[in-house]
Amino acid sequence: MTMTTATPLSIEFFPPKTSEGVEKLRLVRQQLYALKPEFCSVTFGAGGSTQEGTFNTVRDILAEGVSAASHFSCIGATRATVRAQLATLKAMGVKRLVALRGDLPSGYGAGGEFQYASDLVTFIRAETSDDFHLEVAAYPEVHPQAKSPASDLQAFAAKVKAGANSAITQYFYNADAYFRFVEEVDAMGLTIPVVPGIMPITSSTQLMRFSDACGAEIPRWIRLRLQSFGDDLPSIKAFGLDVVTDLCAQLQAGGAPGLHFYSMNQSVATLEICKRLGC
Ligand code: FAD
Repeated sequence: MTMTTATPLSIEFFPPKTSEGVEKLRLVRQQLYALKPEFCSVTFGAGGSTQEGTFNTVRDILAEGVSAASHFSCIGATRATVRAQLATLKAMGVKRLVALRGDLPSGYGAGGEFQYASDLVTFIRAETSDDFHLEVAAYPEVHPQAKSPASDLQAFAAKVKAGANSAITQYFYNADAYFRFVEEVDAMGLTIPVVPGIMPITSSTQLMRFSDACGAEIPRWIRLRLQSFGDDLPSIKAFGLDVVTDLCAQLQAGGAPGLHFYSMNQSVATLEICKRLGC
């Protein structure tokens, strides 16, 4: 399968926790830069990572001459801390943020001065006008804490109306969920691009664990196939490449405005999928 027109790509990393991880990610990034990503983004606060780790990785990407987006979560934050972090990011030359609510580790109370990502988008726009291109999260299979699909869509609309420029979705393996979400967004008169988030499949247990936590559905046929491979990693990887390449091709054929790869700080699967797509 090959694409006829170039699809904008973006690639997501998480901040490594060790100096070996930092060096390994440097190499991974160099390999992935061959895909000429529109930007690379770095997660913030996920999995216990620190804000310093995020900012350091963002700095490294900018120093490599690539556009970098910092994820920015507001849960538990105050206006004063957010204001200070925005000033740091601006001084670093960051032009794009992924504005999120984030998740508190279980056992922590909510606290903080922001309740939802829409509050963060409103605050960033009020404080920094159009200094940043703002991405927000979208959930074609509905955010796990949403009261209903309709209220989740309203929450998404609130982020757009507050000033988001574009959106990246949670990953999914059911293209229809994405296309329906985009139709609903269009029907509400919201015109921002909604870029599908793509999670390559490279391991069975890791994917199951992640998906349970973030509410992404692994279709039964994929789950059963993965389970049937047991510890046979080459078969899992081969199957994963086929499934995710097909998904990307469907998304492109249906007009997705780009592809955002959750690289998990690995290059092989993303490179192979893009090669098969002709990116
Ligand atoms: P929100 O848009 O605020 O939504 C959160 C929940 O509140 C939803 O259920 C929504 O329906 C509901 N809601 C929103 N507004 C209202 C309202 N006014 N009334 C009632 N209900 C409302 N997490 C990290 O910690 N770090 C990261 O770097 C990170 N990167 C991510 C990148 C992408 C592309 C995606 C899709 C997710 C990412 N996450 C990250 C996970 C994200 O933080 C969680 O999914 C979090 O639970 C929700 O964040 P949000 O910005 O979507 O929140």
